[in-house]
Amino acid sequence: MGKITGFLEFEREHEASEDKRERVKHYREFVGHLTDEQAATQGARCMDCGTPFCMNGCPVNNIIPDWNDLVFRQDWANAAATLHSTNNFPEFTGRVCPAPCEEACVLRINTDPVAIKSIEHAIADRAWSEDWVKPQPPARRTGRRVAIVGSGPAGLACAQQLARAGHGVVVFEKNDRIGGLLRYGIPDFKLEKSHVDRRIEQLVAEGVAFRAGVCVGNQRPGKGITDWATGTIAAGKLLGEFDAVVLAGGAEQPRDLSVPGRDLEGVHYAMEFLPLQNRRVAGDAGVPDLWATGKHVVVIGGGDTGSDCVGTSNRQGAKSVTQFELLARPDDPAFNPVWPYWPIRLRTSSSHEEGARRDWAVATSEFLGEGGRVTALKAVRLKWQEGRMSAIPGSEFTLPADLVLLAMGFVSPVRSLLQAFGVEMDERGNAKAATDGASGYATSVPKVFAAGDLRRGQSLVVWAIREGRQCARAVDEFLMGSSELPR
Ligand SMILES: Cc1cc2nc3c(=O)[nH]c(=O)nc-3n(C[C@H](O)[C@H](O)[C@H](O)COP(=O)(O)OP(=O)(O)OC[C@H]3O[C@@H](n4cnc5c(N)ncnc54)[C@H](O)[C@@H]3O)c2cc1C
Ligand code: SF4
Repeated sequence: MGKITGFLEFEREHEASEDKRERVKHYREFVGHLTDEQAATQGARCMDCGTPFCMNGCPVNNIIPDWNDLVFRQDWANAAATLHSTNNFPEFTGRVCPAPCEEACVLRINTDPVAIKSIEHAIADRAWSEDWVKPQPPARRTGRRVAIVGSGPAGLACAQQLARAGHGVVVFEKNDRIGGLLRYGIPDFKLEKSHVDRRIEQLVAEGVAFRAGVCVGNQRPGKGITDWATGTIAAGKLLGEFDAVVLAGGAEQPRDLSVPGRDLEGVHYAMEFLPLQNRRVAGDAGVPDLWATGKHVVVIGGGDTGSDCVGTSNRQGAKSVTQFELLARPDDPAFNPVWPYWPIRLRTSSSHEEGARRDWAVATSEFLGEGGRVTALKAVRLKWQEGRMSAIPGSEFTLPADLVLLAMGFVSPVRSLLQAFGVEMDERGNAKAATDGASGYATSVPKVFAAGDLRRGQSLVVWAIREGRQCARAVDEFLMGSSELPR
C-alpha cells in the first residue's frame, strides 16, 4: 500500500477524452491516459484491503492492489510484468472492459472506487511504448499439435498460452482477418486495430500459425468438403491432424425480432452493420453500401452492441438516433446494496454522450414500409406487472425509421460448427463443457475443448481471455499429464 491515507486525500480522476463534438468526426480512439502523477495518486487511493474484492470481481483475477502500489512508486516495469502475469492482453481490457473490478472495490461501498481500469490502460500502453512486451517463445517444443477454431480473445489467449507451453498451435479463422469481435465487432473508436495487429505479431513470433479465411466444419453446398486452399476444412480433418482441438468460435447467432415487416429493406442485425465500418477504416475496397448517413436510425437493444451502433451512426451522420430498451430505466441509487457484485443501474456510454434519444420499457410491434423499404416502426410502452413487462393499453406510437439495427444480443454459437464436431450442447445451445474438475473445458467429444462465448454464451472480452487461459491449461494437462500454465 503506497500511501496509507491516499483514499482520504485524493479524489477519483478520469482519463481526459476528446470533446464529443470533435470525436464524432472520426473513428479514432479519443480517450487519453492518466499522467504519471495522476496514475500515482489514483494508485495511492487503493486501500490494499486484506481481502481484495476487486481481484475477485476481475474475471482474470488481476493482482490489482500490487500494481496499484507499483504505479504509486512509479515502478512501471514491474507493474507491467505483474499485469501480464494474469492477463494476456491488458491493452484490450484497459480500453473496453466494463470494469467489474471497480464495482467490487471496497471504496465503492460509500464513495468512488479506485480508477482500476484507467491504471491498467496506462500500464499496458506504457509496456508497449517502452518495448517491454517481447515474444516469449518456449524453451522446448513438445511435438504436440493443437488446432484452435476462432481468433477472438478466447482463441488468442488460448493460443498464446499453449504456444508458450511448447505446443504447435494453428488458429483457424473464417474471416479474412484475425481478431474475432476485437476486429469486426468493437468499433475502432473504442479499440484501434493496430493493438490487435501487434499482438498477432507477438503470437506469430512465439510460434502460433494463423489460417485466416478458412471456415471449419462447414460444407459448401454442392461442392462437398474442400480443403485448405478453398477456404473450408472438415472437422474430421482437424481431428485427424491435431492432438487436440479447441472450439472458440464465439456466440454468433443473433437474437431476431419476428414482427410484421421484418423482411423490409433497411432492417438489419447490428453485426451486418458494424463490421462494414471497421472494414472501411481498415481501408478495404468494395465494402457494401449500408450507411446511417442522413437516416433516422432506431437501434433496438440497450447493451454494448447497441451502444456501438449509436456511436457508429452518429459518426456516419445520421439524422436522428433513437435506442430502445425493453426493460425499465434502472434506478441509480447512490448506495447500491448489491456490492461487491455487478449492480443494475443506469450506464451511459461515451456513444450515448455523443447523442441519442434513449427510450426504456418499449417493445417494437411492427416495421412499416413503402416500396419494400422500412420507413417507420410501431411500438408500445411497457410496464412491470405481475412479474413481467406488459403492454400499456393505448400507449402505441409510431416513429420514423429509415434504418433499424437489431442489437438484442446473441442467443448461442452457430450450431453448424458444434454439429460438425458432434459436440453436445447445453439447454441454451452453447457447447456443453464444465470449467472445473479433471475434465475442465472438455466437451462430450474426446480431445475437443471449448472456450469463450461459444461455451459460456455472449459475454465480455475479459471473460474470453480467462476462458482461453484456463482452457489452455486443461489442454496442456490433457496432452502432457500435468501443466505448469497458470490456472
Ligand atoms: C458489437 C460488439 C461490441 C462489444 N463490445 C464489448 C466491449 O466493449 N467490452 C467487452 O468486454 N466485450 C464486448 N463485446 C463482447 C466481446 O467482444 C465478446 O464477448 C468476445 O469477443 C468473445 O470472445 P470469443 O473469443 O469467445 O469470440 P469472438 O470474439 O466472437 O471470436 C470468435 C471467432 O471465431 C470465428 N469462427 C466462428 N465460427 C468459425 C468457423 N466455423 N470456422 C472458423 N472460424 C470461426 C469467428 O469468425 C470469430 O472471429 C462486444 C460484442 C459485440 C458483438
Ligand atoms: S480486466 Fe476488467 S475487471 Fe479486470 S482489472 Fe481490468 S478493468 Fe478490471
